Amino acid sequence: MDFFTVLSLKNAIKLVSENLPPDKIIEVNLRDGLNRTLACDIISPDFLPQYTRSTVDGFAVKTSDVACANDSIPTVLKIKETIHIGILPKVNVESGEAVEIVTGALLPDGADAVVMIEDTKVLGDELFVFSSLKFNENVVLRGEEIKKGDTVLKKGDVLTPYKLAVLAALGIDKVKVYAPLKISIISTGDELVEISEPAVGGKIRDVNTTLLTAYAKKHNFDVVKLVRIKDDFELLSRTVDQLLPDVDILLISGGSSVGMHDYTAENLNKKGKLLMHGIALKPGKPTIVATVSDKLVFGLAGNPVAAATTFKLICADVISKRRGSEIPVKTFATAGVNFHSSPGRTTVQPVKLEKTASGFVAQPIFMKSAHLAVILEADGYTVIDGDVEGVNKGEILEVYDF
Ligand code: AMP
Ligand code: MG
Repeated sequence: MDFFTVLSLKNAIKLVSENLPPDKIIEVNLRDGLNRTLACDIISPDFLPQYTRSTVDGFAVKTSDVACANDSIPTVLKIKETIHIGILPKVNVESGEAVEIVTGALLPDGADAVVMIEDTKVLGDELFVFSSLKFNENVVLRGEEIKKGDTVLKKGDVLTPYKLAVLAALGIDKVKVYAPLKISIISTGDELVEISEPAVGGKIRDVNTTLLTAYAKKHNFDVVKLVRIKDDFELLSRTVDQLLPDVDILLISGGSSVGMHDYTAENLNKKGKLLMHGIALKPGKPTIVATVSDKLVFGLAGNPVAAATTFKLICADVISKRRGSEIPVKTFATAGVNFHSSPGRTTVQPVKLEKTASGFVAQPIFMKSAHLAVILEADGYTVIDGDVEGVNKGEILEVYDF
C-alpha cells in the first residue's frame, strides 16, 4: 500500500481545521480558570484601582505646601488626623495641614501627594517634612490602570495567574472558556509493554501513552481513555468502535505507515473517510487524518518525537488558533551554524539556545527518528519551510516551546 495523499503541513493544517469538532463554551469559577482559553472578550465592569490610594505609609499633604522643603529646611505642617485603611476619609486637607495615612488607604480630599514617613519627623501635632513632592507622588489614581468599559482580555487569551488576578481585582468571579475537547489514545504495537514491565526479548516500553497524555493535558484536553493493543486489524477496529462514542478526537499511535503491521489507514478507510495519509513533515511523515462518524481520528507515527510533534502541529495548535490564541514564540535566536533541512518537507528542528552578549544563538540538535532522550538537550524547536534547503548561519529564527 502506498501513502494515500501526502500533504504539505499547510494543507494538512487546513484540512484538520475544516474538520475539527465544534467547540463548546462553558462558564467556570475564576479559580478553576488557570490555562483555560477565554471564549469571549472581557470588558471591565470597574476601575482599577477603584480608588485613589496611597502607596506608602506617611502623610497626605498639598504639594504646594512642601515645595521648598529639603533636608536642612523642613516645612512644618499641622497633623490633623489619621486615615485608616478600608474606609472613606471624611477629612479635607487644607493648606498647612497633613493627614496621617497608611499604605492602601484612600487619599483625602485636598491632598495631592503623600510624603513618606521616612522623610518626616513628628513632634507633638507638628509634622516636619524634609522633602518636596511631585503632584500625585506616592499615589495610585482611580482608573490609572483600567477604566470601566475597557477591553481587559480578548477571546483566545490563555488565562495565566496574573490574568486571573486582574479579573479578581475587577470583581469577575466566573469566566466563559472553551470546554476541553475529549480525547482518547490508542497505543498500538506488538513490541510494547507497560512502563512497569521489563523491556526484554525485543519488547520496548510504551512511551507514547505517557507523552501524548502529557501533551493532551498541557493543551487542556480531557483525556478520557488510554488503551494499548497489539497490531491486529480486528482488535484495532473494535477498540476504535468502543472509544469513539465518548470522544471528540481519537489518537492512534503507531501503525500509521505502510508496513506489514500497519493497520490504521486501512481500518479508518473502511470505517470512515481517510482525509490524509502522509504529511510532508520531518519528523512525522506517516501521519493519518480521518473522520469516522463525525469524529476526528489521527494516526500518528510510532516514534515518540514524531508522534508528539504532529499532535502539536496539526491538532493542538490548530485548535488553539481556531480559538483565537497565538502560538507564542519563545524567543528569536540567531542560527549559530548553517543547518540543512529536507527540501520538500517542513522540518521541525530542535535547537539548543546559547546566551550570548548579542542575544540567543540557536544550535541544531540532530536526532535520529528513533531517538528520544536527545530531545532533552533542546530548548525548543524552529520550523524550516519545505521550500528552502536549510538555514544560513546568522539568520534570525523563531524558536517555539515543545
Ligand atoms: P510504527 O509507527 O508503529 O511503525 O512504529 C515506529 C517506531 O516507533 C517503532 O520503532 C516502534 O517500536 C516505535 N513505537 C511505536 N509505538 C511506540 C510507543 N507507544 N512508545 C515508544 N515507541 C513506540
Ligand atoms: Mg508499530
